Amino acid sequence: MPEKINVLLSEQVIKKRVAGLADEILSGSRPELLHVVFVLKGSFVFCADLVRELSRKGQAVNIDYIIAKSYLGTESTGTVKCKIDIDMAGKDILLVEDIVDTGNTMLKLRKKIAEMKPERLRLVTLLDKPERREVDIEPDYVGFEVEDRFLVGYGLDFDERYRELPYIGVISPQ
Ligand code: 5GP
Ligand code: MG
Repeated sequence: MPEKINVLLSEQVIKKRVAGLADEILSGSRPELLHVVFVLKGSFVFCADLVRELSRKGQAVNIDYIIAKSYLGTESTGTVKCKIDIDMAGKDILLVEDIVDTGNTMLKLRKKIAEMKPERLRLVTLLDKPERREVDIEPDYVGFEVEDRFLVGYGLDFDERYRELPYIGVISPQ
């Protein structure tokens, strides 16, 4: 029997906030070219919407990705696996995450990218679970602060399911 998903953030609410995030990212000095680096797989939907908002507002972008994995089922494994073979030296980088939970993934990625000497490095996450933080990291831009609940949809999965949902929700046991 399929589980029921309770909607937490609707498609419309997300769309509006993503446009707002693009405004925040573009306030202040704009680079000629913004290098958007998203973290697979969870942030692919958010990134697709965000780059189109950035483009609509006149920002030219390059898009690349990093594969990072730390979760099995609904539990963080603590060890973050990732491999970065993008040249970031001298570039204006926007790292795009779906959700910052313990913070281990973003901390590790930020450290690795900073070592590659970008001109500027900013972090954006659609979702933030500040209660769950284990390490000291604050994203520069946050879409929504959320409570400590396991979320699916809009790119987020539960064992590879539900990524295609246009909204973000919570699985309710039936
Ligand atoms: P962190 O390293 O901050 O603990 O974990 C970050 C990653 O864990 C996210 O990029 C995401 O892939 C996964 N994650 C954290 N919380 C959730 C959640 O509520 N739902 C899903 N589907 N993934 C989550
Ligand atoms: Mg992720």
